Amino acid sequence: MVKKIIVAGGGHGGIAAAALLAANGFDVTVYEKNKRDNMGYDWTDIFAPDALERVGLGLPPEDKYEYKKNMTFYGPSANTPLRQDVAEDNLEIKMERSDIYEMLIAHAEKKGVHFEFGCEVYGPIMSGNRVVGIQTENGDFYAPMIIDACGIDSPVRRRLPAACGIEKAPGRFGKFIVYRAFYDKVGKIVDDPYRVYFFPAGRKGIGWVATEEDTTDMLIGCFDELSENDIAEVSAELRAKNPQMGNKILRGDAIVKIPVRQPLAVMIADGYAAIGDSAFMTVPVIGSGIANSLKAARMLADTIIEDEDRVYSCETLWKYQLRYYKALGAGLAPLACVKLLLTKLTPEQLDYLIDNHVLTADDLTIGADATGLGDFLSMSPASLPDRIKGLAKRPDIIKKLLSCGKTLVQVVAHTTALPAHWERRKVFAWAANYCRIFRNYCQQ
Ligand SMILES: Cc1cc2nc3c(=O)[nH]c(=O)nc-3n(C[C@H](O)[C@H](O)[C@H](O)COP(=O)(O)OP(=O)(O)OC[C@H]3O[C@@H](n4cnc5c(N)ncnc54)[C@H](O)[C@@H]3O)c2cc1C
Repeated sequence: MVKKIIVAGGGHGGIAAAALLAANGFDVTVYEKNKRDNMGYDWTDIFAPDALERVGLGLPPEDKYEYKKNMTFYGPSANTPLRQDVAEDNLEIKMERSDIYEMLIAHAEKKGVHFEFGCEVYGPIMSGNRVVGIQTENGDFYAPMIIDACGIDSPVRRRLPAACGIEKAPGRFGKFIVYRAFYDKVGKIVDDPYRVYFFPAGRKGIGWVATEEDTTDMLIGCFDELSENDIAEVSAELRAKNPQMGNKILRGDAIVKIPVRQPLAVMIADGYAAIGDSAFMTVPVIGSGIANSLKAARMLADTIIEDEDRVYSCETLWKYQLRYYKALGAGLAPLACVKLLLTKLTPEQLDYLIDNHVLTADDLTIGADATGLGDFLSMSPASLPDRIKGLAKRPDIIKKLLSCGKTLVQVVAHTTALPAHWERRKVFAWAANYCRIFRNYCQQ
C-alpha cells in the first residue's frame, strides 16, 4: 500500500516529521509557498540544541552556531536589572534562520522527501469531517494524512469545518505582533549586551536590544497591532537607553506574528494533525517554538508509523496529542496563565515586584532544558521570606497573583485530566473546558 503523506507549509516541525516518515518508507511531499532560497526570516534564532538530536540531526558545523549569552531584564523604571545566569551546559544555541532551514531541508531531501516550493496552499479538501487533501495554487492534491505546518495563520486549520472542533485563531492575548530590525552599531557597550525591557514606551509587551559585534538587533513585541507610530516611539525609547544602536537598518525590518498562548486544545482530526505554530506550540511567555516543533515532529512521526493499518483517524492520531501534552503541553499551558498575568499587571506593579525582590533574576534564568512553569519560576525556599515581605504591603498585587494562582491550579488539574482515549464527546467537553478556563481568566 502506498504510504502517502502531505505536509502543508514548510514549518520546522513539518519538515522534520517529513524526513522521519520518508526514512520509514512513506511518500512525503511538502507544499511550501516560498521559494527554497527564500525560506524563513532574515535573522537569527535561539533554541535548545537537543531538539535536533530528537529528529535525527546532530549539532550543525561549528561555524554555523554559537551559544546564547545571558540576558538582562529591565522593568519599566529600569531601577533593578535582573541578570540571568544560565549554567554553561544548559545554554541554548543561536543560528541564522536560513541555516536552520537549509539543514532541515537538505536532511529531508536526503531521506527522500519531495518539495514543491512556490506553491501556496489555500485550504483543506474535506470528505465529510475527514481531511482528504489540500487545495493549492497548482491544483488539488490528495493523501490519507495531511500534516499542517503552515504556521499561526494556517489556511488549512482556519478552514476546517466547525465539526472538527479545532480553534481557528489564537484569540485575545494569544499572539504577539512583532517588529524586528537589525541596526548598525555606533558605540561600545561594556556589560549586559542582551537586554529585555518590559512595557517598552508604556506598551503592553516587550522590547529587546541585543548588541552584537557589528549590529544591534531590536525587537518590539506587543499584544495589539503595531502602527508605524508605535514602532517609532518604542524604537526611540530603546535607542535612548541603548545609544550604541544606530539608525541604519541592515537586516530584518519586518512585522510578523508569534503565538504566545496555551497549545491548541484539539490538534488532530481524521486525516489531519497540526504541528508547530499551527498548533500554537511556542513557549507562551517568550515565543520560542523551534525546539518544541522538532520534538513534536518525532511524536507525530512515531504515531503515524505505529498506525500500521494506515487509518489516520482521530482514534489513532490522538496518541500524538497525548504524547505532546504529556511531554510539553502540560508544562506550557500553565505558562500561558503567567503570560496573562503580565497583561494584567500595571507598569508600577511590575516595577514593585522587581524592586522588592518578589520577582528575581533566578525566576528568569531559563535554560535549554526548560519545559514548564517550574523551570521558569524556580523559587528557592531561601528567597521566600523576602518575597512574602515584599508582597505583604501590596494587597492589590496579591489579589492579582491569587487569581492567577487559582487559574494555574485549574489548568494543571485540567491538563492532567486529558482523556486517555479518543471519544469525541469526551474530548470536545475537555477542550471546551480548557478554552473556558483561559477565556474566563482573560476576561477577569
Ligand atoms: C520575530 C520572531 C523571532 C522568533 N525567535 C525565535 C527564537 O529565537 N527561537 C525559537 O525557538 N523560536 C522563535 N520564533 C518562533 C518560531 O519562528 C516558531 O515558533 C517556529 O518556527 C515554529 O513555527 P513553524 O515552523 O511551525 O511556523 P512558521 O515559522 O510560520 O513556518 C510556516 C511555514 O509555512 C509556510 N506557509 C504559510 N502559509 C502557507 C500557505 N498558505 N501555503 C504554503 N505554505 C505556507 C510559510 O512560508 C513557512 O515556511 C520567533 C518568531 C518570530 C516571528
